[in-house]
Amino acid sequence: MKEKALLYLMKRANDKDIAKDRIIYLFRQAEQAMEKGEKSLAKKYVGLALRIGMKFQLSMPREWKRRYCKKCGVFWVPGKTVRVRSKKKEKHIVFTCLDCGAIRRYPYIKESFKNA
Ligand SMILES: [Zn+2]
Repeated sequence: MKEKALLYLMKRANDKDIAKDRIIYLFRQAEQAMEKGEKSLAKKYVGLALRIGMKFQLSMPREWKRRYCKKCGVFWVPGKTVRVRSKKKEKHIVFTCLDCGAIRRYPYIKESFKNA
């Protein structure tokens, strides 16, 4: 039965990989929807990505982690749906969701803005 267990594990790992790909795909779709001004569609994509993440117990990919509001699920585009203020002295970045007003603080990491 060892083989069967191994196969099962491989299948699970594969599922997780597929889930991860799907999450990234959905965030890209959300970004594109935002470019077209379709905010509610983008929100739907974010919601789906989060649901897949929850189902497979995956954390969101690093490059997308700070791209949506954890409170209302809106996709964040700086200046459009989110206000970003970096406070270098205090070593954190403040994100204010322009949709629901939620405020999030993240530690200031240079690399986090490479993709933003
Ligand atoms: Zn929000």
